[in-house]
Amino acid sequence: MKEQIETLVKLQGIETDASRIQVLIDQLVRKAENLETELKTAEQAIEQDTASLEELRKAYRSQESDVKINNDTVKKNQERLLTVKTNKEYQALLKGIDEIKRRNSRIEDEMLALIEQIEAAEKGLQQQNEAYERLKARIQTEKKSLQSESEQSRQRLVELGQERDRVAAEVPKDLMRKYETARKQDSGPAVVPVRGTVCEGCNMNIPPQMSNELRRFEDLKFCPFCNRIIYWESLE
Ligand SMILES: [Zn+2]
Repeated sequence: MKEQIETLVKLQGIETDASRIQVLIDQLVRKAENLETELKTAEQAIEQDTASLEELRKAYRSQESDVKINNDTVKKNQERLLTVKTNKEYQALLKGIDEIKRRNSRIEDEMLALIEQIEAAEKGLQQQNEAYERLKARIQTEKKSLQSESEQSRQRLVELGQERDRVAAEVPKDLMRKYETARKQDSGPAVVPVRGTVCEGCNMNIPPQMSNELRRFEDLKFCPFCNRIIYWESLE
């Protein structure tokens, strides 16, 4: 019986290793996803800032066009000054010209302010693009190492699966059924050691009589509290 129990312990060890590797693989997958998200967030920020810059440029072009139209109007009105007959008409026209010139001067001030904003936005965007390239390079490197780590882990998982099948084949069918049942009881291992009198599966003290029986490895024993298969293990 001792040998069979040792086989079950071995089987449990392989399955514990496999589930630890599975957890690791899941973590690697999440890390890769987070890197993708980080890159996408940076891309979206650049897209937004590029759109804002385009809006500023559009506003500038629109004001540029207003100034041109106003200048044309001033020019036309200045020509009309030569042909007006009454002084009143002349003064009105002159006042109109001044008004347009003042408006243009205001627009030109706004354009200067816009140019400053555009230049600042262009500079910011350039820095953002440079930072993005650095981020992209870093993420590519990190993803490569995640990938190789993940490949290694998957390979190890395949090996453990094969090892598990080999060991499981050594276990008699009825014992295997008991093992499978114990495994389905609860999360965590199906086979756990008892050190002293404590079940490592549930940390409960098993009856002293049972502890003594365990040392003899005469038959398969289950923890009376968590129903896992238990075996005696020396405290050392
Ligand atoms: Zn227990």
